[in-house]
Amino acid sequence: MPRYLITSALPYINGIKHLGNLAGSMLPADVHARFRRLQGHEVLFICATDEHGTPAELAAAEAGEDVALYCAQQYKIQKDACDGFRLSFDHFGRSSNPPNHKLTQHFCETLEKNGLIEERVSKQIYSIDDKRFLPDRYVEGTCPVCGFERARGDQCDNCQTLLDPIELIHPRSKISGSTNVEARDTAHLFLLQPKMQERVRAWVDKSAEWPPLARSIAYKWLDEGLIDRSITRDLAWGVKVTQNGKVRAGFENKVFYVWFDAPIEYIGATVEWAEATGNDWERWWRTDKGAGDVTYVEFMGKDNVAFHTVSFPVTIMGSSEPWKLVDRLKAFNWVTWYGGKFSTSEKRGIFMDQALELLPSDYWRWYLMANAPESSDAAFTLEQFQSTVNSDLADNFGNLVNRILRFTASKFECRVPDGGEWTALEEELWDEFSTRLKDLTHFQEQMDMRKAASELRAIWAAGNGYLQKAAPWMAFKTNANAAALGVRTGINYVALSAILAQPFIPDAAKTVLDAVGAPAENRTWPNASNKNPFDAPPGGPPIHPPDLPFKKI
Ligand SMILES: [Zn+2]
Repeated sequence: MPRYLITSALPYINGIKHLGNLAGSMLPADVHARFRRLQGHEVLFICATDEHGTPAELAAAEAGEDVALYCAQQYKIQKDACDGFRLSFDHFGRSSNPPNHKLTQHFCETLEKNGLIEERVSKQIYSIDDKRFLPDRYVEGTCPVCGFERARGDQCDNCQTLLDPIELIHPRSKISGSTNVEARDTAHLFLLQPKMQERVRAWVDKSAEWPPLARSIAYKWLDEGLIDRSITRDLAWGVKVTQNGKVRAGFENKVFYVWFDAPIEYIGATVEWAEATGNDWERWWRTDKGAGDVTYVEFMGKDNVAFHTVSFPVTIMGSSEPWKLVDRLKAFNWVTWYGGKFSTSEKRGIFMDQALELLPSDYWRWYLMANAPESSDAAFTLEQFQSTVNSDLADNFGNLVNRILRFTASKFECRVPDGGEWTALEEELWDEFSTRLKDLTHFQEQMDMRKAASELRAIWAAGNGYLQKAAPWMAFKTNANAAALGVRTGINYVALSAILAQPFIPDAAKTVLDAVGAPAENRTWPNASNKNPFDAPPGGPPIHPPDLPFKKI
């Protein structure tokens, strides 16, 4: 049985994430991790905060705080929100922790030994008034492409062009606003990506399990030709640049560029996990140390695909060491707020902490995955959220659970009743269930969130349809055996429905499974070829109907 290493793109440290961020990587990664665990696979689910770079420094400065302290506070806030959403990470690390520093330095030194790093002097913007270089977002100016006047040094938010600060027209310091700036020489390390171009292409050619979107983005980058890429910055907060284990001469005031060290934190966070738990991290990451049976799955937004399919692979393949490379990846489009952008800086949309103050996490989890932005962007509206929750969770799943368990409590003294033989009605339900279970399993394996949610919804509806026809509440007065059969089938079907719902709505599923007394070992993913799972023997623990798991909004 393959083991699954699952990573979600790392949320950036400053600011609580909005529902679009959640839906585009962390939540679907959690659904997949839960599904693979239920199938019995050994799973390691890793995420972390991405803490370096100029946005963190600028946000800390704006808050009047030391950047390390600021990041520690923000980490706690994000960790709490992830816990609130029941994101079942085996470890939620920090890219500023020591393992990532060590690994990043190791990769750079190894790449240099392999002839893939070159030190070069280049021009950077220097602020005379601030007495420092202004990398990336420390400088703003006019976009050379579209003329937007508030373009940032690393990117124009108006036309999305990636920029080098030196290209900005009328540059000014983000720190002091000073325009007293000039281009000065400074040394930086460059990763010679073109030397890896053909090796990366050959690897992408073989990556048959990637979705078309990911392959086309990777090929677009490769076809345009990789360029030598600067991987260091004139900054204080970050991973120090070393050579032979010591700070590199001339690089005392420089650190690695955040985009170089951030993906390495997937490995770094695994080391953090191993150190915290006494486990072995290398059997997940090193194919020479047991990772040969690992399937590595990455989840990310579409803007991150190139970094995961080209940039990070250049780093790890360039080391010529036997690191695990991504096998399968799943990329998402955007969730929009009424068709516009969710915006952290402008506080537009719903953010993870606010969502949890309004309603339990299952409501959001279900809606966001049932409407996942898979083939195109998906608009979030409160109206659609309300109608989805009411029809799927309250009227469909909630109703199925509620009516059969309450009836069992009131007429059968909270026990699964004995009596009755299967009729065509039960056969029909079983046929539909096993077909849909096969499809649901397939969609979950393919990480097709919308289709999986839709299949689960149909499974719940089939249970309601059965109860409508079997109507044990009618049969109760005239045919005790028929009523017992209907109730018994209904209870077993509720249990199965809840088992299959666990990846999407783990809290509600647990409430229902506890209510029907399902033993922990029976909560694993069922197999469509199993013998009939809804003819569980009568008796067993008493059934106490739970509070309605979902209330109408
Ligand atoms: Zn622009």
